[in-house]
Amino acid sequence: MYNTTFICDQETDCILDLNGKIAVISGGSSGIGFGTAKLLSLKGAVSVILDIDEKRGKKAVLDITALGGKAEFVACDVTRDSDCRLAIESIADTHGTIDILFNNAGVIRRKTVENLEENEWDMVVDVTLKGAYLLSKYTVPVMAKTGGGSIINTGSGWGLKGGEKAVAYCAAKGGIVNMTRAMAIDHGPQGIRVNSVSPGDIDTPLLHDEAKQLGQDDESFMEEAADRPLRRVGTPKDIALAVLFFASPMSNWVTGTNLTVDGGGLA
Ligand code: NAP
Repeated sequence: MYNTTFICDQETDCILDLNGKIAVISGGSSGIGFGTAKLLSLKGAVSVILDIDEKRGKKAVLDITALGGKAEFVACDVTRDSDCRLAIESIADTHGTIDILFNNAGVIRRKTVENLEENEWDMVVDVTLKGAYLLSKYTVPVMAKTGGGSIINTGSGWGLKGGEKAVAYCAAKGGIVNMTRAMAIDHGPQGIRVNSVSPGDIDTPLLHDEAKQLGQDDESFMEEAADRPLRRVGTPKDIALAVLFFASPMSNWVTGTNLTVDGGGLA
């Protein structure tokens, strides 16, 4: 008998295979970035982790290597033009190409426009939005020269709707979602797809830090965050799976789109 399930599984395995691909992941030593670096490596890619935390970045590489994946660390503050340029140049020199860029580094300050200091606005917008611009600026020419690639930006539910006491973060994430569309239009003809994944609350250090910033009890904050149709907060792996979709040929004809991954939070 014709076994469609078997054939389907074979095709799916193959289409998600990232063997030989070079994936650059900003903020890759923690939370969503680390979860994604792990998954992409296990699918065959070399995950190049960019992060400001050198110690954690090196540990992330050891952890992925111990699981049988390939990973490297390059120290990079995504707010600095020279760091982004040098990081991308050195990766392109070493590997000859970059196939996947996951613009994921981000920070949040839980303050209203009245309370937020100018330096805090700059820091949130620079890490969360400008960092994606800088890494893309240096990666696009590399991808274009080698036949294209996939850029995935981390948005947020709060890039699609407003959120309480997070004015700079909401501005930056709204920017990410629309910058994604603009980049898809500009770079589609070069074979570069650009999409965003917008997570809801994911169990990472960033989410726990929000509870701290708001002066709330961590346990009740997490319980509130889990109050959504799928009745739990997300995991880095939930987001990594969506990134894998955009990084792989599974999404070959998808560009300029945003995928909300939030357990139904925005439904
Ligand atoms: P996370 O665990 O704090 O990871 C963020 C990483 O980015 C950390 O390693 C952080 O280093 C690094 N980073 C900060 N500033 C940087 C800089 N200037 N240059 C390079 N790396 C820098 O947070 P996460 O939750 O995984 O967040 C990842 C992305 O998902 C962010 O864009 C965030 O806005 C987005 N997101 C998260 C949630 C959620 O609920 N967790 C929801 C929606 C969207 P340090 O730890 O040293 O600062």
